[in-house]
Amino acid sequence: MENQEVRVRFAPSPTGGLHLGGVRTALYNYLFARKNKGKMILRIEDTDRTRFVEGAEAYIKESLEWCGIELDESPWDGGDFAPYRQSERKPMYMEYAQRLVDQGKAYYAFDTAEELEAMRERLKAARVVAPQYNVITRMTMKNSLTLPQDEVKKRLESGEPYVIRIKVPRKEQIRFNDLVRGWVTVQSASIDDKVLMKSDGMPTYHLANVVDDYLMKISHVIRGEEWLPSAPLHVLLYQYFGWNTPDFAHLPLILKPNGNGKLSKRDGDKLGFSVFPLQWVDPSNPDKSSTGYREQGYLSEAFVNFLAFLGWNPGKGSQKEIFTKAELIEEFSIERIGKSGAKFDIEKVKWYNQQYLRNLPNAELAEFLKADLQKHQIEESQDRIEQVCELMKERITFGNELWQESQYFFMTPTQYEEKVIKKKWNQQAVNVLTEFRLELEKLADFSGTNAKQTLYDVTQNQGIKMGKVMQAVRVAITGVGSGTDLTAIIEWLGKDEVIARIDTALETLKDRVKA
Ligand code: GLU
Repeated sequence: MENQEVRVRFAPSPTGGLHLGGVRTALYNYLFARKNKGKMILRIEDTDRTRFVEGAEAYIKESLEWCGIELDESPWDGGDFAPYRQSERKPMYMEYAQRLVDQGKAYYAFDTAEELEAMRERLKAARVVAPQYNVITRMTMKNSLTLPQDEVKKRLESGEPYVIRIKVPRKEQIRFNDLVRGWVTVQSASIDDKVLMKSDGMPTYHLANVVDDYLMKISHVIRGEEWLPSAPLHVLLYQYFGWNTPDFAHLPLILKPNGNGKLSKRDGDKLGFSVFPLQWVDPSNPDKSSTGYREQGYLSEAFVNFLAFLGWNPGKGSQKEIFTKAELIEEFSIERIGKSGAKFDIEKVKWYNQQYLRNLPNAELAEFLKADLQKHQIEESQDRIEQVCELMKERITFGNELWQESQYFFMTPTQYEEKVIKKKWNQQAVNVLTEFRLELEKLADFSGTNAKQTLYDVTQNQGIKMGKVMQAVRVAITGVGSGTDLTAIIEWLGKDEVIARIDTALETLKDRVKA
């Protein structure tokens, strides 16, 4: 729609944990709104009270906050079009359904559950593949199209339960232009007479969704592909009401890693990854709780960057994959959303996290380490902690790995990696280490580089290639056979600590010297 303010909405139903596909929908709406200086709205679609789950709304709020998806209007902060919870808008919908009834575009239906079931059985027996309440069957049912008017009136007045159904035209083409898929054309005969108002006085999703998008002046409906089959019905409703349709963009599905079908929570459980941004505890079934990306140590910026690329790319042959939120806003466009499903790849999420960790300022990385240092009652200066972060950040995927990987900086090893000891702890290594610690003692100008030179001189002096004893030296100082640059470790530990560690290793391992 030209010249209209961009207003988009994320419209989740509070029926459980918010799947990462939902987070992606919210994200694309948000990026589109910001890019076009429009408004991002959140509407809670809670008209189906049978599927309502306690805590789901709060979970949605927290998830979006964690991802940095800011809302301009929402049930929590209000806005000009409040209320933003459909259950609180309940009194509005009847008027619209009634309008359609009055214009002959919808009708009352009084059929009981048993009568509906009997109709389906009848049609099945007649080999109808998908039995529906539609343009043909409606005439055999109990509704205001088939019953005499005074009987309809009587039934309504006596408080008999009824629903309001849309009267879908017999033979019409319904067409709309989807911004992702292009023109979509559907024959009206394939659409059934969907219920608009339920017998409990609540609207169905279809009616509430269309009425609210209209009342809230939504310009673009950006949502998951699973809603594409509903879109023709929505378009028909807009036509019936005489309203302009918003633009539609249906996002591609998020697929299982092997590309075979939609990614479900069960796939995640089976393959060992979560489909939820945050930990989700189902109040009615706490055993079925799931962990989330936040709890697993992912940075929200990395998670968001990953999600942005799950179905969208910046195009123009761009190789760039790391985008800040501001850059995503700048680059985002609906034209660059793919039509085909996007395969989920947990390795890619990890890769993003690694990249983001690497780019964090050391002071921020230090926070991860400080928590563990405190737990182990180790005191270190901020400066020295940051030095360790600088040395280690290329080697970790998660913040909490910092401690696991860098413990040897802060604690003198008491155990030594067995594999290395078995292979490398021999007389040559012991001789080198013994002379090395003596020379270190004498070294006036201690630094990592000077210490390394000293080690080199010692090996030369003993006629040994340095490479042959390097791992033994490393294991004596750190306890493990691999890690970050040993020169840097030595420099950080300082002369006295290095000598003390070599002494401890020589003493502890004295019976392990390989002949
Ligand atoms: N309430 C629907 C959902 O849960 C919203 C679909 C739409 O955006 O129209 O996804």
